[in-house]
This record gives sequence, C-alpha cells and structure tokens, in this order.
Amino acid sequence: MTQPIFATHEVFNQSPPFEGVDFFAADRPLVEAVRANGGAAAEKELSDFGKTWGSAAMAERGRVANENTPKLRSFDSRGNRRDQVEFHPSYHELMAHSAHAGVHNSTWSADGKPAGDAAEVVRAAKFYIAAQVETGHLCPITMTRASVGALAMQPDLLAKVMPVLSTRSYDPSFAPWWEKRGMTLGMGMTEKQGGTDVRSNMTRAVRDGDAYRITGHKWFMSAPMCDAFLVLAQADDGLTCFFMPRFAPDGSVNAIQFQRLKDKLGNRSNASSEVEFVGAYAERVGEEGKGIRTIIQMVQLTRQDCAIASVGLMRSGLAHALHHARHRSVFQKHLADQPLMQAVLSDMALHVEAGVALVMRLCRGFDRTPHDPAEAAYMRLLTPAIKYWTCKSAPPFLYEAMECLGGNGYVEEGILARHYRESPVNAIWEGSGNVMCLDVLRALAREPEAATAVMQGLATETKSLPGAGEAITFIGKAFRRPDGERVARLAVEKLALLSAAAALNGVSPRNAELFAATRLATNHASMYGAVDLLPSDTRALLERALP
Ligand SMILES: Cc1cc2nc3c(=O)[nH]c(=O)nc-3n(C[C@H](O)[C@H](O)[C@H](O)COP(=O)(O)OP(=O)(O)OC[C@H]3O[C@@H](n4cnc5c(N)ncnc54)[C@H](O)[C@@H]3O)c2cc1C
Repeated sequence: MTQPIFATHEVFNQSPPFEGVDFFAADRPLVEAVRANGGAAAEKELSDFGKTWGSAAMAERGRVANENTPKLRSFDSRGNRRDQVEFHPSYHELMAHSAHAGVHNSTWSADGKPAGDAAEVVRAAKFYIAAQVETGHLCPITMTRASVGALAMQPDLLAKVMPVLSTRSYDPSFAPWWEKRGMTLGMGMTEKQGGTDVRSNMTRAVRDGDAYRITGHKWFMSAPMCDAFLVLAQADDGLTCFFMPRFAPDGSVNAIQFQRLKDKLGNRSNASSEVEFVGAYAERVGEEGKGIRTIIQMVQLTRQDCAIASVGLMRSGLAHALHHARHRSVFQKHLADQPLMQAVLSDMALHVEAGVALVMRLCRGFDRTPHDPAEAAYMRLLTPAIKYWTCKSAPPFLYEAMECLGGNGYVEEGILARHYRESPVNAIWEGSGNVMCLDVLRALAREPEAATAVMQGLATETKSLPGAGEAITFIGKAFRRPDGERVARLAVEKLALLSAAAALNGVSPRNAELFAATRLATNHASMYGAVDLLPSDTRALLERALP
C-alpha cells in the first residue's frame, strides 16, 4: 500500500544540535585560564570530563531532570510519615557523574584538609562545565563540598564523616549516612522572618546529653534528600551551627518533617523544601554562640561556586549563540558573518573570557590561601565582589544569548530558556547582591591593611591597561566616603571589573586591553555589541570562544 505523503516542505537552515563537543578543549579561554592558574597537569582529565558533559546523553539528562521535577512523598499509603523526596532517574545519573568526578569533594584530602596543588582550579573547571548542562543538581554538590569548611571547626565530627564523604560514590538510598557508600550534605539557615539576618533565627536547640534536640523551622532548605544538614539554631549561648542527620544514631528516622516543596522560577530539578524540626537529633559544630563564624566557612565556598556556575551559564549561552550564528543564514549570509552580529557576539565573548579568567584566578586564591596570607586577603576581599558581578551579569547576558537564536532561543526545547530562568538564583542565595557589597565593606573595615595590599597588587597587574588607574582612584575614594554604603554598588562593580582585567591580563594581554578599554576607560553601554572593536579582534575573540 502506498503511504500518503505529508511532507509540505524541506527543513533546512536550522542549526544542528550543539552536542558531541568537548566542553573543555573547545573553550580556549577556559583551557588558558586553567593553565595560567596552575591546572595544566589536569588537561587530559578535564578533556575527558568535557567530552562526557558535552555529549547528547548528558544534555538529554539535563532536560529530562528538569521536566520531571522532584515530588514530596509526605506519607505512605497507610498514613505513616515518610518525608522523602523522589527524583527522576536522570537527576540521579547527573549526581552520579558529578560525584564520580569528585566535583563534590575533590578539593579535600581524605582527612578533610585542603587537597592543595591546583585542586580548586581543576574542580572549578568541572563545576563550570557541568553548569553548562544542568545546574539544579549542583546545589547538593556544592553544599557537600563546602560543608567540610564548616565541619573542620569540629574535628571529631569531621573525622567521623570524611570516610563516607570523601568517596566518589553516589548513594541515593534512604539509609543512615554511616551505612552508605557516599553522602551529601545540605544547609538550613533561612527562616520565615529572616534569611540575610540569620541572627533573627528562632529555631531552638536544647542539650540532650552530648547531643542536642532542635525544634523550629526553616523556610528554605534545598536538596532535602541529603544525608545531613548544617543547621543554625539558638542554643543557650546563642546562635550555633549543628550537624543534623536524616537518621538518629539509633537508626530511627530523625524528626525532620518537610512541609512543602517550593514552586520555583528555575532550578527545577533541585528540590527546595519548607521544613519543620520536631525535637530533631543534632550534634554541635564549633562552639555554642559561634554559629555564624562556623557556617561562614561553608558559605564562603558556596559563594565561590555561585560565581563559577554563573560564568558557566554565560559560557553556555555564548557557545549556543555562536554555534547557531555560524549555521544560520539570513539574507544569504551566515549570521556569524554579519558585522552587527559579530559585534554582539565578540562583546559577549569578551565578557565571558574575563569572567572565566577571574573565577579561575579566584580559585587559585582558594588553593593558596592555607599557605599564603596575600592570597587569603585576595580571596577574602574579592569573593563577594566577584559573586556580585558575575551572578548579577548572568540574566541579561543569557537574555542576549537567547535573542541571538531568535525565536528558537525562547522555546523550552532549547537549553537557553532553562539557563535564563536558572540564572537569577545565584545572585539571590548565599548572600544577595547588596549583602555582597556590604561584605566587601566589612572586609575593608576589618582588615584594611590586607585590603590595601590587594588593591596595590591589582594596581601593579593592571598598570598598562586603559582606565585602570582612574578605576583604582575611584574605588579608593568611594570606599573612604563616610556614606560608603550608599555608593557601594558603584565601587564593588568597579572593583570586580578591575580584578577581571587583572586576571585576564595574566591569560590574554590583548583581550585584557580590550576589556579595560570597553569597561574601565569608559562605561559599557547597557547592551552587548555597543562597542567599537577592530575586525581582527572580533575574529580572534570568536575563534578563541569556539574554534
Ligand atoms: C531556590 C532557593 C533555594 C534556597 N535554598 C536555601 C537553602 O538550602 N538553605 C538556606 O538556608 N537558604 C536557602 N535559600 C534562601 C536564600 O539563601 C535567601 O532567600 C537569601 O539569603 C535572602 O534571604 P531572604 O529571602 O530572607 O531575603 P532578605 O534577607 O529579606 O533580603 C531581601 C533583600 O534585601 C537585601 N538586603 C538585606 N540586608 C540589607 C541591608 N542591610 N541593606 C540593603 N539591602 C539589604 C538583600 O540583598 C535582598 O535583596 C534558598 C533560596 C532560593 C531562592
């Protein structure tokens, strides 16, 4: 029997899927930034990771994990409490891939000490690559990695958990952490009456022998199927950090009751719960009353990851936009060959080059902090500034990337709509924009000499760059003003741009000059592409971004 012919037209002039790409090797600015910051020895490992995460199979897992969002199962069919969250198998596969590559722990040695060498830089490159595919699962990945910073304040507890935390196994079974092949950790700080102001926490901790019983709530507690959480609660001597496992030491399910899961703009593969603790078992981490000082050791590391993920998201936007522009013809000419599209794409490429150079430079600071006070000062002053600038620049960047794909950019089948919805969260959580600016001011006020030394270092590194001297004068004046808080956003953005120019100068001096000329010597226009770059620079930027 002859088949009816439904074909009304031939499909052509659509860009092929951006898959089967080595997300490491295809990204010259990343390769060079890793090299410049001490990670050259890991290039083969990173290329293997880049090929896996650049595959069609990983892209599909990312899509499916976000379309099939986690479900809260509060009760079983007989009415018994379950308090479990079910995830799609694709989510678990993403978790397993990240865990096997050590994205959740490779910056620590087996006993919980900093791993040294370029462990931060290498792990950051993986985090950056994974963020280009799926960011929701990176929430428990970053929290698990960062938790070790806080657990270090309680060495006996750290020694107990590290044998499980330091494995590269992902074990999603609902069982006590000490019986598992690997574990993940989350954190609970934010309550209804205050997230930034955690001093307002009302959740109470009461001593119970060597441990504590915790009663109260958290308004946001993400990744609720983690094996344990670092939680803030008020003890007799004030706000204190606690380790709250899903199972009590006798093997019973701990009294952690999830009320609902948040219905979020993005970050949909990840569950974020509202939760109540009903006399939940917990162990103290650090001293009573020193909860903020303890948990900040964790938060400093998650802030670093917010910055890395934001640049990763922008990199993905740029790569998809450039790939599309090279395949799509409009008026008989590829978009990538049209001068105005070249202006847009090359300006975006410059932004991402500076971003990746900056986050890798920051990670070198984290790598060297344990042995180098100058690097510790760099890390302390610039982490909040870098989080501020990278995270807040991601949503408008991704919008522009989307527009490069025209209508295809706006539909859910492509990845850019998801990236766009995801991007604001990195600025909101782990300290929102204003909070980051206030944190820079705090670092300046508490350690003025260290901050001055960091500024002097940046001045030396940027002395040949246009606008750098003026930027340094501006930052100095703004921070010295008695009403410095009022103009903090002006100064912090300038500080981040200066640091980015300095970091890029250590990777690509020509592009650092272009970055400084368009971002320091003049204020950048509010739209990408409103710059006057030479055609040779435009070509070079795009070739580096994607060969
Ligand atoms: C998807 C998602 C997941 C989350 N997961 C977790 C989690 O797992 N664990 C957890 O503990 N929390 C989590 N949070 C909560 C998040 O950390 C908080 O929302 C965030 O810290 C802000 O706190 P808030 O919502 O109470 O806002 P507020 O503290 O009320 O802040 C509101 C605004 O005021 C600004 N602001 C605050 N102080 C000042 C000031 N002094 N001057 C000027 N401006 C100021 C802030 O920058 C912010 O823009 C999550 C949030 C989201 C969106």
